[in-house]
Amino acid sequence: MSETLSLTGLIDKVRSYSQDADFNSVQRAYHFSREAHCSQKRSEGSPYINHPLAVAYILADMKMDTLSIASGLLHDTVEDADVTMDDIKVIFGKEIAFIVKGLTKLAKVEFRTKQEAQAENFRKMLLAMSEDIRVMLIKFADRLHNMRTLQFLSEAKQQRIAAETLEIYAPIANRLGIGWLKTELEDLSFKYLMPQLYDDLVKKVATRREEQEGYIKEVVSLIEQQLKEEGLPGKVKGRVKHFYGIYQKMQKQRITFEEIHDVIGVRIITDTNANCYAILGIIHSLWTPIPGKFKDYIGVPKSNMYQSLHTTVIGPKGERVEFQIRTDEMNRVAEQGIASHWKYKEKGTIDENNNKYITWLRELVQVQKDEPNAVDFLEALKGEVVPEVVYVFTPKGEVKEMPLGSTPVDLAYSIHTQIGHKCVGARINGKIVPLKYKMRNGDTVEIITSPTHGPSRDWLKFVVTQRAKTRIKQWIKAEERAQSVELGIKLLENDFRKHGMSHALMKSDEILNVAKALGVGNLEELFVAVGFGKITPHQVINRLRPEKEVTEEEAVKIRRPIKEHKGISIKGIDDILYHTGKCCFPVPGDSLVGFVTIGKGVTIHRKDCMNLDRLAIENARLVDVEWQPSLQSTANTKLYVETVDKPGILANLSALISSLNINIVHLEAASTQDKKGHITLIIEVKDLTQLKSLMHKITQMDGILRIRR
Ligand code: MN
Repeated sequence: MSETLSLTGLIDKVRSYSQDADFNSVQRAYHFSREAHCSQKRSEGSPYINHPLAVAYILADMKMDTLSIASGLLHDTVEDADVTMDDIKVIFGKEIAFIVKGLTKLAKVEFRTKQEAQAENFRKMLLAMSEDIRVMLIKFADRLHNMRTLQFLSEAKQQRIAAETLEIYAPIANRLGIGWLKTELEDLSFKYLMPQLYDDLVKKVATRREEQEGYIKEVVSLIEQQLKEEGLPGKVKGRVKHFYGIYQKMQKQRITFEEIHDVIGVRIITDTNANCYAILGIIHSLWTPIPGKFKDYIGVPKSNMYQSLHTTVIGPKGERVEFQIRTDEMNRVAEQGIASHWKYKEKGTIDENNNKYITWLRELVQVQKDEPNAVDFLEALKGEVVPEVVYVFTPKGEVKEMPLGSTPVDLAYSIHTQIGHKCVGARINGKIVPLKYKMRNGDTVEIITSPTHGPSRDWLKFVVTQRAKTRIKQWIKAEERAQSVELGIKLLENDFRKHGMSHALMKSDEILNVAKALGVGNLEELFVAVGFGKITPHQVINRLRPEKEVTEEEAVKIRRPIKEHKGISIKGIDDILYHTGKCCFPVPGDSLVGFVTIGKGVTIHRKDCMNLDRLAIENARLVDVEWQPSLQSTANTKLYVETVDKPGILANLSALISSLNINIVHLEAASTQDKKGHITLIIEVKDLTQLKSLMHKITQMDGILRIRR
């Protein structure tokens, strides 16, 4: 931080890892940027150029190519200075212009809220990043320098920027495997978001370090000696967990700082995978490993390609020590992640073979395509970058990494959308489990599918991945739309028939014109609108035959024989989705009315249902409904019985109902302070006649005060 920044310093830094780089572009970018920002100052009062220069230094620390460094120098020129995108393109070329464009925020006037602006800007950057990952790496360098100099901003800005860094940038740095950056961004955010906790931890860690210094030295030299004896190469070093990592562990495990054993650990870096395991063997033979603490991220790498062996043992003097064992290459990947694939090339693409970062980026871009609302997308993204995961196995032994709390449905959708849609069950380690089962590490999961099955709205209550949520919602939407089209066609056909109109009209130009006149673009949209109840059939008919207007009453009066459908038929329509109202529980014999719901078919209510008053505001959406008279069906209905509070009444009541061969589906009884019993029953009756006779018999029983439906 105290280092004085200069163009020569920057060039020396770049030269240290890339002798034959194109320094000319870096020099030109520096001078252009300094000129563009010449009238600006940073919040602390220094010339603005110090910021892009510091960003370029960070990029050089990351050993980035000169094109990235030049872009870093230019990253704020269009947004903050009087420079246009065209200027950049003409002077520095297409590639740099693309990157700078990706880093330039959209004009503020385009958004209603700050939240929306943040989300849209982020989305834009993400799209640019999916084409050229350097956009993100430069954004990281920019954010890191802003975080390092956050003390100069107002407290409100500090809070907002730190929160955004912690919620979005640090998790993405983690997913892209850039360990050092994730750590620094987290600690800086933590410092501003929870200053007291942070200061407290800093002090406690310093004390612990002092206390344990001798101890760790002892462990390190013991290991070094053993490695030498066995002829194994290895650098052994004490390491301190970062502050935010300690804080997270305290939170997650609900423990105090004093209860954390791996604040200071030991890291061993060796040459080959085989030697990692050999060193692990030495550690486990020296000290007792703690069960459940050994993790093999070499065999099963994390999704950000992190590899290492972790183990915790009871070391000398009975104190716990955590060891991390890895190769040089693994250490490089752990620190630099996606950026480690970078410095060897001067081109804008990275080796896609075997590169999980790219898969993850693609998925992110897919998620953003599925979620048209930018703010919702950003929320979804925050959920998606949470690093906590479980590892499960497919029946073929393939490892799948899923977010913590994932269910077999999430897994099914992660394999293929169709597998998700057709998923009916799952076998975990050979046993059938419910679909909402939360998978655990090491589970072997077999998805059971059925070709005729489709997803259920209930799944949305338990799936955790954005992919599963989006796919389920899309399916439901398509399904509801298909049902609305079907319902719309049937409602129209039915009314056409009633008015003796030709069926051919359904596909005519006339009806298409009507659709347009009613403000819907095409025939399918018209059917959907009718099915949804937004447009009524007689609105359509009146426009088709303006000379003979049909009034609402007329339309209601016209009835025809009804085809059987599970006891309830809707005016000439069969096979349409319907529900009976849970408010009034109609039974055969009750006068009915149907209400066309938005997207869920028709709900049947009693004509005297109290809810109907409310629903009838939208009169146009009511349809005629009749019972099928000859049907041997039953319907559930609800009864409320008020009794004196006396033992035996409940028993007598249920005995009476059973003696009439009426099934009790549900019964609830409660006594109140006023010495009354309140009984709620759901019973299965044939029709209104049977229900009325039952109600009559109940009123004649001893101790009954009142009865009503
Ligand atoms: Mn900047």
